[in-house]
This record gives sequence, C-alpha cells and structure tokens, in this order.
Amino acid sequence: MAQVRTGRRYRTKRADSHYDAIVIGSGMGGLTNAALLSLLGKKVCVLEQHYTAGGFTHAYERNGYEWDVGVHYIGEVHKPSTLGRIFDVISQGRLKWAEMDPVYDKIILGDEEFDFVAGRDNFIEELCKHFPDDRQVIQDYIELIRKMSRLTPKFFMGQAMPRGLGNFYNRFLRRLLLPKEFFQTTRVVLEGLTNNQKLISVLTGQWGDHGQVPEDASFVMHALIAKHYLAGGAYPVGGASEIARTIIPTIQQGGGEVFTYAEVDELLVENNQCVGVKMVNGDEIRADQVISNVGFMNTVERILPAAQRQQYNVNKEAEKLQRSSASLCIYAGFKGTAEELGLNSTNLWIYPDGDHEGNMKRFLDDPDAAAPLIYVSFPSIKDPDWDNRFPGKSTVEIVTLSNIDWFKAWDGTTWQQRGEDYEQYKQQQGERLMEVLFQRMPQLRDAIDYYEVSTPLSTQFYQLNKEGEIYGLDHFVERFGQSCLHPQTKLKNFYMTGSDVMTAGVGGALMGGLFTTMSMHGLRGSKIVKQLLKDYKIPEA
Ligand SMILES: Cc1cc2nc3c(=O)[nH]c(=O)nc-3n(C[C@H](O)[C@H](O)[C@H](O)COP(=O)(O)OP(=O)(O)OC[C@H]3O[C@@H](n4cnc5c(N)ncnc54)[C@H](O)[C@@H]3O)c2cc1C
Repeated sequence: MAQVRTGRRYRTKRADSHYDAIVIGSGMGGLTNAALLSLLGKKVCVLEQHYTAGGFTHAYERNGYEWDVGVHYIGEVHKPSTLGRIFDVISQGRLKWAEMDPVYDKIILGDEEFDFVAGRDNFIEELCKHFPDDRQVIQDYIELIRKMSRLTPKFFMGQAMPRGLGNFYNRFLRRLLLPKEFFQTTRVVLEGLTNNQKLISVLTGQWGDHGQVPEDASFVMHALIAKHYLAGGAYPVGGASEIARTIIPTIQQGGGEVFTYAEVDELLVENNQCVGVKMVNGDEIRADQVISNVGFMNTVERILPAAQRQQYNVNKEAEKLQRSSASLCIYAGFKGTAEELGLNSTNLWIYPDGDHEGNMKRFLDDPDAAAPLIYVSFPSIKDPDWDNRFPGKSTVEIVTLSNIDWFKAWDGTTWQQRGEDYEQYKQQQGERLMEVLFQRMPQLRDAIDYYEVSTPLSTQFYQLNKEGEIYGLDHFVERFGQSCLHPQTKLKNFYMTGSDVMTAGVGGALMGGLFTTMSMHGLRGSKIVKQLLKDYKIPEA
C-alpha cells in the first residue's frame, strides 16, 4: 500500500541555509509555484506545518480506511485542457486521472432530483426534460458560461503582471474589456436570463463548491465552476495524496525539498526586503524570494511581522474581505465493495428546497434548522486503484456547512482533548448526517464499519485557518478588485499564491501558482511560463 503521507520531515540539519525561493505552505498553489520555479532552474524549499504535504489536497488514513479532504472531483483534467497540461508538466506525467460517471452531480431539491450530465449537449437535453419550456434559456445560459470561461484569462491577466501594472489593469482596464456579467452576482445574472426560480435553484446547485449562496457570490465564480465541470469530473488515480506525491519529485530534481512539520513563524525582513523566514523552532532559512501559500488572512495576521503589518496598513485591507464558510464533515468507512453496496460515483447535493438564500439565513440564525446544503461524495468508487489498496471496503464523505461561532465553548482546547461535551456534539451531528445518508441509501445502514466527524476546529487545528474556513476568502464581486490580493505584495521579494490570489478549488489554486510564477518574472513572466508549458517534454515513464 502506498504511504499516504507525503513530504520529508523537517530537521534543522536537513535544510540548506539558503534557497532561491521558499514557499510557505504546500497546498495546490504552493506546489504548483514551487514545481514551476524548479523547472525554471530554481532551488526551492517548501515549508509545510502539517505532518503531510498537499494542503487541502492531502489524504489521511485511520482505522483501515483512507479519505481525501478537499478533492472530491476536478474538472477538465481528463480532457485536453490547460489545466491538464499544467498538471502533466508539474508532475512530469506521473499524475493520472480517472473520469467519473457521466452524471457527475445530482442536485436534489426536496423531493425532486436533477442530473448534471457530462457534455454540453447532454447537460442541456437532461435539463430540458425537467424544463421543456426553457430550452432557449438553458442554451443561453450554457453559451454565457462558455463565453465567460473563454474571457477569463482577460479577467485574471492583471494577476500575472507586476503589481503596479496589474492593479491598474484590474481596477480600470478590464472593466472596459469584459461584459457586465463579470462584475455582477450570480443571482443578478441568472434573473436577467429567466424568471423561473426553480431553474435558477437547479443551475446554482453547485454553490457548495465555493460556499456562497447565489445572492452573495460573484457570477465569475459560478460560471468558472459550472464550466469547469461541464465536461464531467475526474479523480486522481491512487487517491488525492497522489497530487503531492507526484509533484514533489519535480521540486527535488531542482535541488529543492518539501518539508513537513515545518511551521513558519514569521518572515525575515531586512532593509525593507523579505530575505527569508524564521521557523517556529527558531531556525532561520534565507532565500532570494519568499512566497506565501497560507492564504491572505494567515499571511497578514500570522507571518507578516508587526512592523510591516503597520507599515502597509494591512488591517484596513483585511477589513474589505471576509473568510469563507466553515464545514462539518463525516468520513465513513463501509464493509463491502461499491458493487456489493450498489454505489456509483455521482456526487449528491441535497437541499431542503430551492430557497438557497432563505435556507442559509435560517441555518445561520438557528443551527438546529435544516442544513442549507448537504454534499455526499463516494471517493473510493472514483479511484480505480482503490480495490487494490482496500479490497472489500468503500468510503463515503458528507460535508455540510458550519460556523466557528458555535464552537466558542471549546476555545483554547486542543485536538482529542476537547472534552466529553464536544464528543457528544460531534456524535449528535454525525448521527444526524448519517441518517440523511441512510434514508437515501438504506443498504448502507448495516454495512457501516466506522465513521468520524470533523468540525471547524479540526480545520483550524490541521490547516491553521483561524475560523475553520475551507475556501480561503469569500468570492463576492468586490473581492476580485482588491489590490492586496495581487501575487506580488508591497514587501519586496515577497509574494502570495494559491486560491486567494485566484479562486478557490484545486484548479483555482493551481492557476494561482501559475500566475504567481508569472508575476515573479516581471513583464516577460507570462511569456516565460507559457513557453515552459508549451515546450516542456514529459519524460518517458
Ligand atoms: C471539504 C472540502 C472539499 C473540497 N472539494 C473540492 C473539490 O471537490 N474540487 C476542488 O477543485 N476543490 C475542492 N476544495 C477546495 C480546494 O481543495 C482548495 O481550494 C485548494 O486545495 C486550496 O489550495 P491552496 O493552494 O490555496 O492552499 P491550501 O490547501 O489551503 O494550503 C495551505 C497550506 O499552508 C499550510 N500552512 C498554513 N500556515 C502555515 C505556516 N505558518 N507554516 C507552514 N505552513 C503553513 C497549511 O497547513 C496548508 O497545508 C475543497 C475544499 C474542502 C475543504
């Protein structure tokens, strides 16, 4: 069985005293940035505080099962695509993808079910079965998200430029170049297409992929996700940990390393330039350039020294942004293969009804109200290698929203020592969610072998995200114009990468890694990185 943990445990003597670049955090954005820099000839050190690399793309094992954490499905990579090519380059062809069932998502609004079927025409035909009078609207919608997707490079182009130019472009020029839908909320755009509220509820049935209801979310985010999955979903062969495992050798070949148990305490700043990092154990490692993949909030609240925080007035910038939702998740293991249990790989999105905004509001006001969204994924079925590694077993994951404020009673407690009342709370929540699963799939009731519950406190503990947020910053319309989210920061030689400089999602974070690499290379950065992606020859296996 492949070891699910990736990266090399940090020890003072294992690290060099100087690197070309240090990447703090080994999420999808950090690994992409580090691998691209390595392929461009740099020696890169990635420092990850967790016991394994990968950020939200890591997987973990317990009680004879393995679960992914933040990779349930990824679009485009199983087809000829930019995303697929970038993965091929940074993993040097080692990472393989398995396509999911054609019905990648099932949207369930109360008693009604709607399938999202891979392929533009299939998608349209399936939805038209439910909305025969709305064929034109559905076609217009699909054309709109395809157009948005085509124009997306223009929307994000400023992130690849040096900071001053990029922010000028983001603030002024792109508004002139792009249609208004890029600057509107999902609900505003969709209500411009149709009055059919049920159709809108169905089309927005993947809002859990970024965590914001249609009234609050930028339509860019909606359109990118809808288009991302339009050709179906895919999953890494061998499980989510294969993402980090297959990229790390690229970084090592460049003379670098990916260290785990390596928490960075603070940036080292001398003469107004970032010159390296100070680790929590006091070690100092120097580098010509430092890149943060720990998210904007963690960057400004935890690793930017107080003097720079004040100098750059970052608190004011942070006030304009908000953290995304937190989650409560079930990781369940079952005795029996997918075939024996009658499972398939379609994700389920279970909503009380189509009133996404109302359900969310009621839930935030009253945690005992119906969950505004319950997502169910079947990871073991998505991985064709699963049966070789875990014969006779299956896994299910259930995700719902939560709120850090509901966990105030356990402030200051730590993992596995939060007390009996916390365990009871988790048990109640777990039973409630498992019951939703059993109602839909009664055959699973007798097959359950083990399950555990994670809360926002788990995300806080493992990921260091203060409020247990799972998608970085929220994707409201104004977020995308914020100059503080540019990859090149005000501090010389210090950059940011990952989902907060682009969008949430594995693909979004990966593109963050790409754009950060571009912006690190000045005006010619875009050309240099595109050339690498074009010319790079994948080594023979
Ligand atoms: C439950 C869930 C389900 C999801 N499902 C999907 C999905 O199906 N498809 C999809 O595309 N996306 C999904 N996502 C989103 C996707 O996983 C993330 O958006 C993406 O992986 C984020 O990547 P990132 O590069 O921004 O960094 P992150 O993954 O957030 O990584 C940041 C890293 O920084 C480390 N770090 C923090 N502080 C320090 C420090 N001081 N020193 C050193 N290291 C530090 C953290 O430990 C972490 O490893 C899901 C996310 C979650 C949580």
